[in-house]
Amino acid sequence: MSAVGVQLLVHDETTMIAPEDLPFAIDQLPDVFTSFRRVVEKSCRVRAPRAVPALVALSEGVCAEAEALSNTTMEAPDLIEARAAIATLDPRASFAVHGGRSHGLARMQRWFWETDCIARYKETRDGLVGADFASRLSPWLAIGALSPREVAAEIRRYETERVANDSTYWMFFELLWRDYFHFWVRRWQGRAFKASGVLGRTPCGAQDREAFLRWCEGRTGEPFVDASMRELAATGQMSNRARQNVASWLARSEGIDWRWGAAWFESQLIDFDVGPNWGNWQYVAGVGNDPRNRVFDVRGQAERYDADGAYRALWGALPRA
Ligand SMILES: Cc1cc2nc3c(=O)[nH]c(=O)nc-3n(C[C@H](O)[C@H](O)[C@H](O)COP(=O)(O)OP(=O)(O)OC[C@H]3O[C@@H](n4cnc5c(N)ncnc54)[C@H](O)[C@@H]3O)c2cc1C
Repeated sequence: MSAVGVQLLVHDETTMIAPEDLPFAIDQLPDVFTSFRRVVEKSCRVRAPRAVPALVALSEGVCAEAEALSNTTMEAPDLIEARAAIATLDPRASFAVHGGRSHGLARMQRWFWETDCIARYKETRDGLVGADFASRLSPWLAIGALSPREVAAEIRRYETERVANDSTYWMFFELLWRDYFHFWVRRWQGRAFKASGVLGRTPCGAQDREAFLRWCEGRTGEPFVDASMRELAATGQMSNRARQNVASWLARSEGIDWRWGAAWFESQLIDFDVGPNWGNWQYVAGVGNDPRNRVFDVRGQAERYDADGAYRALWGALPRA
């Protein structure tokens, strides 16, 4: 950039809480989320998001070169393929994700201001079918098209202008989880990807390829797991409730190497994000930061969160009623 007389300044807005505002060094990150949340809520403020910089005036030569470059990129075969993939999105998909900041901003506008869904989030967040049970902001957050500080600022504005309730707080709470896992991977580095996890426990780490493939392809015979894995393969998306269940089923019930599951998610999820993915996998697999070390009862969960079987039927894992 300096060759064309433009100074490049990089600002890190990956997390809601700036790393330099944490009241502890990163290698002292608490082992348990609740301890992290308590201390951060007490002593940290969320900085205001940085404004989008004004466009600098560039010389005609630079503009022409940039224009030519962007045209070439737009015609690159992989982008054309990606557009085609969007055009043939599986009709069962609850939500169509379109890349780019303008789509992320439009989603925020809908989630907060047009539908007021944010005000009911705590009651709806365990949903499985439909576009609006959760914010769906993760793909834009993961890629940096939206900043978590922008979302936090929107929550505060909504609380001032409309309503502040348990749901608006819960959205902030989930963004703290996101921050926690971003700091977690900075703290643990290589151990984030080790079978024994940050606890150094020996997990059930069976490397049964056939069973793993059945899980990936949604052919396990367990309807809630199969529906969720088919949704992931067809759309690149899966709700938080379903992610917890399929991860627990693979790592705890089947005893298969949790890292295979994490790697499969990494290859499939539209919102893949290193810390949130590998941190949540360790947590569910019992080698990470869950102090309760739970195993999900997948059938009980299906009865509770998909009582009428609509989700399992949608993905062909139960006959339609
Ligand atoms: C096994 C497993 C793997 C996961 N992998 C990823 C991943 O690769 N990328 C990713 O962004 N999230 C991941 N999550 C967390 C969570 O499932 C998604 O963030 C959430 O489903 C995204 O949908 P949403 O934007 O509608 O979330 P909402 O419910 O609307 O939550 C708002 C935001 O809070 C953050 N958030 C919510 N829950 C969590 C959580 N448990 N951990 C960290 N951040 C959270 C996300 O940024 C999300 O966009 C994973 C969870 C599990 C159990």
